[in-house]
Amino acid sequence: SLPVIYAITPTYSRAVQKAELTRLANTFRLVPQFHWIVVEDSNSHTELVSRFLARSGLRYTHLNVFTPRRFKRTGMPRATEQRNLALGWLRGHRSVKDKGVVFFADDDNTYSLELFEEMRSTRRVSVWPVGLVGGRRYERPLVENGKVVGWYTGWKADRPFAIDMAGFAVNLQVILSNPRALFKRRGAKPGMQESDFLKQITKVEDLEPKAKNCTQVLVWHTRTEKVNLGNETKRQQDSVYIEV
Ligand code: UDP
Ligand code: MN
Repeated sequence: SLPVIYAITPTYSRAVQKAELTRLANTFRLVPQFHWIVVEDSNSHTELVSRFLARSGLRYTHLNVFTPRRFKRTGMPRATEQRNLALGWLRGHRSVKDKGVVFFADDDNTYSLELFEEMRSTRRVSVWPVGLVGGRRYERPLVENGKVVGWYTGWKADRPFAIDMAGFAVNLQVILSNPRALFKRRGAKPGMQESDFLKQITKVEDLEPKAKNCTQVLVWHTRTEKVNLGNETKRQQDSVYIEV
């Protein structure tokens, strides 16, 4: 049987949240052997996300942890606590018997179906290009003779792993056999989340290049425009409550 793909999605309440989750669910429903781990940045499960997941038809786990206010400043890494909670859930609920691949799927990115076919065969840690990131059309691992030898990037080229969160997957057994590997708050610098995490579980020379030796873009770091709610008022409310 195919290894299960565990996609970890941190998400937070905002005007576009349900639209983002809808786009993701529509993609994920087309992926075989898929398990969605949705981690809300909130003090409890929200009604919106609970209902949404129950109706999604997907296999899922719904978790929540609120990011402390002191970590919600610009320039600070986002969703550290949420990703770590999901890793803790996998360590507590999966064992050496389970075949799986773990992937970090932010709620605003765009995912092709081919991406999931590529990551399915991840033996330890696999990597591929990400579109629309780093101030360029794409970033990608540079591959020579089947090995990653460096990074094509326009941003902070000195990062040990110059790769976005959407640019790698990890075999479930690597997550389980490195129980202390987590995303860091302490000493975390902007853009270093991926490197700080990956250096705990792998080396650059051991990375497995996917997507035709990292020459295809199968995932895009899209970002959703901030919605204009300038005409919302306290007065003149609609006569019914409508979830958006
Ligand atoms: N996120 C979150 N809480 C926040 C901000 C972001 O849970 O306060 C989630 C967000 O929904 C997304 C991920 O963290 O899944 C990355 O955030 P974002 O897409 O804003 O970051 P960027 O695209 O700038 O890397
Ligand atoms: Mn994003």
